[in-house]
Amino acid sequence: MTPETPITQDVMTLPRKLPDGPVNLIGLTRDELREALLQAGTPEKQAKMRTNQIWQWLYQKGVRQFDEMTNLAKDYRTLLAEHFVIALPEVVSRHVSEDGTRKYLVRIAGDHEVEVVYIPEEGRGTLCVSSQVGCTLTCSFCHTGTQKLVRNLTAGEIVGQVMLARDDLGEWPKPGHQPNEQTRLLSNIVLMGMGEPLYNFDNVRDAMRIVMDPEGICLGRRRITLSTSGVVPEIARTAEEIGCLLAVSFHATTDEVRDKLVPINKRWNIEELLAALKTYPKISNSERITFEYVMLKGVNDSDEDAHRLVKLIKGIPAKINLIPFNEWPGAPYQRSDWKRIKAFADIIYRAGYASPIRTPRGEDIMAACGQLKSATERERKSRKTIEAEAGLT
Ligand code: SAH
Ligand code: SF4
Repeated sequence: MTPETPITQDVMTLPRKLPDGPVNLIGLTRDELREALLQAGTPEKQAKMRTNQIWQWLYQKGVRQFDEMTNLAKDYRTLLAEHFVIALPEVVSRHVSEDGTRKYLVRIAGDHEVEVVYIPEEGRGTLCVSSQVGCTLTCSFCHTGTQKLVRNLTAGEIVGQVMLARDDLGEWPKPGHQPNEQTRLLSNIVLMGMGEPLYNFDNVRDAMRIVMDPEGICLGRRRITLSTSGVVPEIARTAEEIGCLLAVSFHATTDEVRDKLVPINKRWNIEELLAALKTYPKISNSERITFEYVMLKGVNDSDEDAHRLVKLIKGIPAKINLIPFNEWPGAPYQRSDWKRIKAFADIIYRAGYASPIRTPRGEDIMAACGQLKSATERERKSRKTIEAEAGLT
C-alpha cells in the first residue's frame, strides 16, 4: 500500500462499559452479562439461571423495565435497577415512504446520528442496519463515504436498531406466544446501512449473535446478510464467527476501475478478494455469495464488463444483485439507462446466474442504498431552521 492511499481504520470505538454511570445491559454477550451480574452481587450459584432469565426478558420478550421481570424476586429487581440500565438508541424521527419503507433516524451516544431502514416485502421484511457513523472508506459513488465524522457503533447500538424497529412494528411476542418464523414482519437483516461492518467486526459479531440466539431475537443465520466492500482479512472470520450470508460490493471488473470506485481495492485487489470469497461458502456452509454491482452510466455497465464479471466469478456460487445507482446531491455519476441494465442482466442470466435488479425502495424519503447521509444532513438543517424560527438560536 502506498502512503498516500486514503484508507484508514483508526476510528473511535467506545469501551463496552463507560467508567461512570450504570452499565447498559443491551449488547452485552451472555458471558459479559453473567460477569456484570456477578459484579453486582448475584451469588455465583444463581448466575447462570439469572443470566438466562434476564436474557430472555430483554431479547425474547422485549421488556425494558426491571420491574416487569416477574420471575425475579423484588429485591433482586431493585438491585438490578441500581446497577444497570436497559437503553436503546433514541429515535429522533421516523419517515414512512409511499411504498411502506420506514426510515428511522436514531441518536446514539456522543450526539451522533445513524439511519435504519425497514423494507416490507411480500411475506417478509428486511431491516437495513448501520454499523458505523459515516465510513472511513471513500467509495466515489456513495454518499456515506463523504461523511467526515466516523465512529464505530457498539454492539448495543447495533442490536438496539433491531429492537427499536421491532418496537415500532409491534413485534414482541405476546406472553405465551412463540415467534413464528413464517409470519415475522422483521424477518431479515442486512448490514448494508452506514459504515463498513468488517471495520467494526467484534461489535457486529456480538450484536448478530444476540440476534441469532434461539433464546433471543432468534433469526436464523441465513436471514442475515453482511455486505462488505472487501475487507479481505476479515472474510474468513465472518464465516467462522458469524456464519451469516455474505454480500460483496464488487462494482467493477478491472482493478483500474475498481480502484476508483471502491478504493479499498488498492489494498486488496480483485484477485485477492476473489480468493477470499472462494473459501467463504465452505467455511460458513452457506449457499451463494451476493455480488453487488452498482450500475453507473458509461463507467462499469458495458457488455464487456458483464462478460468479464461472469469470467471472474467462475467457480463461486453467486447471485449478482444489480443496483441502479441512486443519485445524491453533487454525485459524480449517473444511473445507467434501464435498457443497459436489462442487457447487462441478460448476459449474466444467460451465463447461469441469478441477476435480480434491485428496485430502489424509499427513494422519496432518501432511504435508498447510498443515500443515507444526505437525509441526516437535511434533518440537521431543518432542525436548525426550526430552532432559528423558534428564536432558539
Ligand atoms: N460498507 C458496506 C455496506 C454498506 S453499503 C459495503 O460497501 O458493502 C450497501 C450497498 O449500497 C453497497 O453495495 C454499496 O456499494 C451500495 N451503494 C452505496 N452507494 C450507492 C448509491 N449511491 N447507489 C446505489 N448503491 C449504492
Ligand atoms: Fe463505506 Fe460501503 Fe459507502 Fe464504500 S459503499 S463508502 S464501504 S458505506
